[in-house]
Amino acid sequence: MRIDRADVIVTSPGRNFVTLRITTADGVVGYGDGTLNGRELAVAAYLRDHVAPLLVGRDAHRIEDTWQYLYRGAYWRRGPVTMTAIAAVDTALWDIKAKVAGLPLYQLLGGASRENCLVYGHASGRDLPELYDSIRQHLESGFRAVRVQTAVPGLESVYGVASSAAASVGGDARYDYEPARRSARPAEESWDTRAYLRHVPGVFEAVRHEFGPELVLLHDAHHRLTPVQAARLGKALEPYDLFWLEDVTPAENQEALRLVRQHTTTPLAIGEVFNTVWDYQALIREQLIDYVRSPVTHAGGVTALRKILDYAAMYQVKSGMHGPTDVSPVGIAASVHLGLAVHNFGIQEYMLPAPQTLEVFNPTFEFADGGLRPGEEPGLGVHLDEALAAEFPYERAYLPTNRLVDGTVHDW
Ligand SMILES: [Mg+2]
Repeated sequence: MRIDRADVIVTSPGRNFVTLRITTADGVVGYGDGTLNGRELAVAAYLRDHVAPLLVGRDAHRIEDTWQYLYRGAYWRRGPVTMTAIAAVDTALWDIKAKVAGLPLYQLLGGASRENCLVYGHASGRDLPELYDSIRQHLESGFRAVRVQTAVPGLESVYGVASSAAASVGGDARYDYEPARRSARPAEESWDTRAYLRHVPGVFEAVRHEFGPELVLLHDAHHRLTPVQAARLGKALEPYDLFWLEDVTPAENQEALRLVRQHTTTPLAIGEVFNTVWDYQALIREQLIDYVRSPVTHAGGVTALRKILDYAAMYQVKSGMHGPTDVSPVGIAASVHLGLAVHNFGIQEYMLPAPQTLEVFNPTFEFADGGLRPGEEPGLGVHLDEALAAEFPYERAYLPTNRLVDGTVHDW
């Protein structure tokens, strides 16, 4: 099973995606997601210029060996660009191995541990009527869990909130939600933590009152709080029974979560910007978090995320894989195969992809009963239409940046 070629495909059907295609000498093709939101071309160049030439001639079956070769062999370890590139290789090799075995990938990972993977969608509104409308739309679309984000009075635009009521689930209009905007420079948003902390508990009180106790609710603080502010928010949200509170602090300093944990029983999720098990080492061992947010795409692939999740399982920490539109259908497919197989699956994030994205990638995973299930065909179950992909060239796009109202750069 010698690798014959490794090619990088950059396409922008609704947003930018980087895909690695590995082809074996006998013509088996595997795909891996290498999309790093706002820094896509760095991963594309890393793969094309430094990794692809090393793959040619290697045995496609030696996944663990190739992973270690790329991780240890480069000397420069970790970091989002490196780990996303390694993830693309790893995922493509798992796709090949599963195709050769004639099995859907989850079967090679131990088989299904559940019927499907519960997902949550992104509901938002500038005010409560818009928010209720957005939640109802998600429920009508089949979601059983929603992340709730709202505008904050006095702030012009806030992370995760659609800027118009027309931005709804499905169809192009919802692309108002897409945080990576196509522009020469990143948009700038403003932030006031005190205004946010005053506003959010009342929103959850209203949503619980409107939708009752059953609905699974989540919230993302998007790294904007200090540890003591995070502790206060977790405590304030306890009556509303959140599934999780996400990214309360930037958490480069893992010890910060000790303070948060001491003060609240609201479950905590973190790690969508992490890229190795080392970023989680203290958080998991000290049981300071409840959910691991890494997806296959940004944490070194199926091989590496499986190890993180097995470590997490020892401490009853579960998966909560990142899955907005910046994870391509290749990455979502890989996450769903892994999520279906591991015992400690928690929930999967899922934004419905744009129609053009689905036309280009043709994934076979299915959204039903509020969850995702991978198809039964061998491999990942993604059929990239490369001719169509070529019709959507890369367009420069950035995630926004964020400033406090006095102009200080803040976490986004
Ligand atoms: Mg998040």
